[in-house]
Amino acid sequence: MTQHIIVVGAGVIGLTTAVQLAEAGLHVEVMAAERPQATTSAVAGALWGPWLVEPRARVLAWAAHSLTVMQELAHHAGSGVRVASGMEVSRRSYPAPDWANLLADRRPCTPDELPTGYGHGSRYSAPLVDMPLHLGYLLARLRTAGGTLTVRRLASLDQASIDPRVAIVNCSGVGARQLVPDPELFPIRGYHVVAKNPGLTEFLEADTEHATDLLAIYPHRDHVILGGTAEPDTWSLKPDDKIATAIVDRCAELEPRLTKAAIIEHRIGLRPTKPTVRLEAERSPAGNVIIHNYGHGGAGVSLAWGCAQEVTSLLSAAT
Ligand SMILES: Cc1cc2nc3c(=O)[nH]c(=O)nc-3n(C[C@H](O)[C@H](O)[C@H](O)COP(=O)(O)OP(=O)(O)OC[C@H]3O[C@@H](n4cnc5c(N)ncnc54)[C@H](O)[C@@H]3O)c2cc1C
Repeated sequence: MTQHIIVVGAGVIGLTTAVQLAEAGLHVEVMAAERPQATTSAVAGALWGPWLVEPRARVLAWAAHSLTVMQELAHHAGSGVRVASGMEVSRRSYPAPDWANLLADRRPCTPDELPTGYGHGSRYSAPLVDMPLHLGYLLARLRTAGGTLTVRRLASLDQASIDPRVAIVNCSGVGARQLVPDPELFPIRGYHVVAKNPGLTEFLEADTEHATDLLAIYPHRDHVILGGTAEPDTWSLKPDDKIATAIVDRCAELEPRLTKAAIIEHRIGLRPTKPTVRLEAERSPAGNVIIHNYGHGGAGVSLAWGCAQEVTSLLSAAT
């Protein structure tokens, strides 16, 4: 296998891939326009659950492997991962997702567990990730394994290296739209409000029956992340008080303890969305092996370890 790898991107996909490769003994350099804390990945809530991303057979395999790794990480202090319990609820009945059987304790809610007005739901436990903490953990783990991070914006992938022996792993998220270029890739903007945690421990996701206005409550130790939105083709990262107020109101209607919670910050990110995740190898005109690993939509945190494992196999097959 090629010994020198450049990973483009320092979000959860790039850093997880870089950790996997560096811990396998390869010389790994991460190159990224933005530092980890300024990426979309830092904005995610982030609950494991491979929703709305294709192709399903590969997604389920990536998600299953990631679930196992994340459950293990929950035992490591400082990883930012914990296994949390909670519910997803809906006013209408809905089929169980195809990943339901990956979670051993998933079961229908009893009527007394459901919020007023909601007739359906499931209760389960799954990894919940404090993303700023987790990205810091991944970067530290990368450095311990000898990897480095350089802040640099590339205009094209061939700028990453002039040496054809260097393999490039493209984990540039929505940036791949220009970098590859890939016109199929588009953003679905997500808006989160971070509030002081009034004592919540369980996550809650509710079906709003509205495609762009989501309702999610993700408690971390001292803060709680309130969601959210899913706005296709919206690129602006500018805070918007009207959107934030609507999010807090939606969440407080289900969880009254949030009514007076102090707002700490707004987090806004662009889910890198494509009809299917792109995880494949190609060779550049200059001869470099390129592994593309982008387009994970609203599920990148849930797929990162599975995709990183596949990048390792693709690299050893291609080099
Ligand atoms: C509000 C919200 C909630 C979410 N909740 C969840 C959840 O609960 N569970 C879940 O699994 N997922 C969730 N997601 C989705 C998840 O956050 C994404 O799928 C994931 O962060 C994508 O990671 P990434 O590393 O591919 O991209 P990013 O985090 O965007 O990182 C891309 C990296 O590439 C770099 N880059 C881009 N262009 C260039 C360039 N030209 N040159 C150099 N570097 C470049 C960037 O600087 C950055 O470092 C959520 C997303 C949002 C927005």
